[in-house]
Amino acid sequence: MSDGRVREGGQPVPPILEVRHLTKHFATPAGVVHAVDDVSLDVYPGETLGLVGESGSGKTTTAYMIAGLLRPTGGTIRYLGRDIAGAERTRALRREIQIVFQDPGTSLNPAHTIYEILTLPLRVHRLVPRSEFQTAVRRMMERVQLPASYMYKFPRELSEGEKQCVAIARAMAAEPKLIVLDEPTSALDVSMQARVLHLLLDLQREFGFSYLLITHDMSIMRNFATRVAIMYLGQIVETAPVDAFFTTPRHPYTQMLISSVPVLTEDEEAMKPTQVRSQGEIPSPVHPPSGCRFHTRCPRRMEVCTRVEPRMVELGDRHRAACHLYPPGGTAAGEAAGESGE
Ligand code: SF4
Repeated sequence: MSDGRVREGGQPVPPILEVRHLTKHFATPAGVVHAVDDVSLDVYPGETLGLVGESGSGKTTTAYMIAGLLRPTGGTIRYLGRDIAGAERTRALRREIQIVFQDPGTSLNPAHTIYEILTLPLRVHRLVPRSEFQTAVRRMMERVQLPASYMYKFPRELSEGEKQCVAIARAMAAEPKLIVLDEPTSALDVSMQARVLHLLLDLQREFGFSYLLITHDMSIMRNFATRVAIMYLGQIVETAPVDAFFTTPRHPYTQMLISSVPVLTEDEEAMKPTQVRSQGEIPSPVHPPSGCRFHTRCPRRMEVCTRVEPRMVELGDRHRAACHLYPPGGTAAGEAAGESGE
């Protein structure tokens, strides 16, 4: 599943993270919840892969398995070439893959000062001598644009946005390679959202972090991600570079999501796909529909869609979709029919 990225000299760039056929099922009194079913994705060095989907699509479960907070039911998670899906996470691995949670209020220990919170990774991973903790914390706080005096405060004395900056500083303190961002701005007001997103972009430029960004906010995705993967009912249905994702979405579900995004200018409006209206609600993950899981809501459903699960098909320029409108190796039914959004 190379995404076609090449180094100078023509060698392909290996992904930092390769997820293949990842599955997570939960047994519940109502039946088995198919939270994640056969998800494959790559994250490349220094990029931001956005994972988008409605509530219940499985994006957070996928993120938690990658971060080591949930153990997969099946599939592989290769980090720098090594399968880490079923393994106990070593200290080194926990250092290299960090997560920033949606709610900074619950992710910071309320009984600890900011100084104690930020020195924890330094102590656990033995990154700097104890005598240099004060200087290191001061530097971290400066890097996330918080006054150094805040190191003596407790989380309850900070705003939600300031707490999220502390959570980002804590993740950064471990000197990670990959950071999972689980809806990092959804609990913040609009001005703090912009500040936190700019901060994350600056840190990525400076330190070369790879990000896996979980969000349901298409505007954040547009401004922040390098590539986008769309999840629906536990499966990835489309992946594309961010520009192609917004200008030429191929999967009817992606077209539905994008056509409902508010825009500011007439140019942006003109670029949007024709309004695609889905029918009904997202089905239960306990009994996912047969064939294409989107067929119960898809306005372009065909007979085959109810019976046969579509395969992910390469559409060129690192763009892929799983939909019977694009048969493997064949003429895209959607193109032949004059697909909206193209
Ligand atoms: Fe719609 Fe069929 Fe494509 Fe599923 S496979 S998105 S039902 S056209």
